[in-house]
Amino acid sequence: MDAATMNTSNNPAEPLDKTTFDTDVLIVGGGPVGLCLALGLAQRGAKITLVEAVEPEPGAANSFDGRVLALSEGSRVILQDLGVWQALLPFVTDIQHVHVSQQGYLGLTLMHAEEMDVPALGYSIRASDLGQMLWAAVRAESAIDVRCPAKVIGFEQTDEAVTISLEQQGQPVTLNARLIVGADGTDSQVRKTLGLPLQQKDYGAWAILAQVETEQPHQRWAFERFTSEGPVALLPLETHSHKLVYVAPKADYQKLLALSDADFIQAFVAKMGERFGRYVNISARVAYPLKETYVERVVVGRAVLMGNASHTQHPVAAQGLNLGLRDVEDFLQGLQPGLVNMTDAAFLQTYEQQRRRDHKKVMGLTDSLIRIFEHPSPLVGHARGLAMMALQVMPKLKKRLARFSMQGAGK
Ligand SMILES: Cc1cc2nc3c(=O)[nH]c(=O)nc-3n(C[C@H](O)[C@H](O)[C@H](O)COP(=O)(O)OP(=O)(O)OC[C@H]3O[C@@H](n4cnc5c(N)ncnc54)[C@H](O)[C@@H]3O)c2cc1C
Repeated sequence: MDAATMNTSNNPAEPLDKTTFDTDVLIVGGGPVGLCLALGLAQRGAKITLVEAVEPEPGAANSFDGRVLALSEGSRVILQDLGVWQALLPFVTDIQHVHVSQQGYLGLTLMHAEEMDVPALGYSIRASDLGQMLWAAVRAESAIDVRCPAKVIGFEQTDEAVTISLEQQGQPVTLNARLIVGADGTDSQVRKTLGLPLQQKDYGAWAILAQVETEQPHQRWAFERFTSEGPVALLPLETHSHKLVYVAPKADYQKLLALSDADFIQAFVAKMGERFGRYVNISARVAYPLKETYVERVVVGRAVLMGNASHTQHPVAAQGLNLGLRDVEDFLQGLQPGLVNMTDAAFLQTYEQQRRRDHKKVMGLTDSLIRIFEHPSPLVGHARGLAMMALQVMPKLKKRLARFSMQGAGK
């Protein structure tokens, strides 16, 4: 440990001296990852400054927009440990059954929470509800100094400290911190300041999302159906509501967005079929390009990248935020009492190795899921069907697949 962070007390559990720094950790980004990290560190005795560029107002176009998130059982445990799960419960729908199929081929996989011995296969929640609850918890925490709207412009680091430049209400502000964490999303300013290259894969497709109601209740069933042009899915929300996902090739998505509601539903039915009677009351549609981005390094000196700042996932396996929450979990779990090791090179290196392993596993599994299901050969199509039928009669293998989506590859 270096001089500036040295705990001069003989008691290793005594918190770090806080006099020479404006803050222990400056977190850039008030998305779900930055907010959860702020809560976890404050609960362990750290003084936090959280800098967020956009005021978290309802309807804002950010990660707490109209999207619906599927959270894994592992994410539930993390949110519970942070003390926010109870407040989220009224907004959460637990997924009890998952139905996976492919258009035009035999084969079907069914998964049930009961059969897997878990309370749920996953949980769906509107990102806007998650955002409101996380922001309320952060605002209630006196150890977190929220700077919003404010933007991190850049930073410099020495062996002892990080000096960060912000812009707040048009004014320049400089703060010293022991550590800076970039949880500032795919276009991360922290990553750019560190000069780390971003690897990108464009899947040449867009995901169209909407909320839709059905005549009959969904009874906590989720559906995913693979087609030659991309997957379609239904994720349960309130009793009759679903998140609808329609992945379309880049060349087609604008035509699909321009369709009338009735014509769009017809196009969706042609792929997914009717599952709970007719589809009614569809919301406005939004579309997102499907890309995977990845940064090989997540630690440079006293700077750490977490969440989308270091990895952005194709949503087919709904792992983006789940993976980001595991970044937070691994960091918090590696900390010693009093956070005495927080800026130690050994701790940060171990953290980086753990995260790299988990990121690569999830990206590999997600990629093979996409590649297998987009293969055009009818033979491959039948093989997929057989594989799904085999999964259906091989409970152990099915459990492993379910564990990937419930808890993530790294656990
Ligand atoms: C359509 C869609 C569906 C998805 N569904 C799922 C799902 O079902 N399950 C799942 O696990 N994941 C899902 N994801 C992924 C999930 O939304 C992201 O992984 C998650 O939002 C990443 O959180 P984050 O906090 O890392 O980054 P972000 O949410 O991108 O937050 C970054 C924050 O940093 C702020 N910021 C940026 N630059 C600066 C700066 N210089 N100074 C200050 N602040 C700054 C931004 O304003 C923003 O608030 C989905 C994504 C999409 C697009």
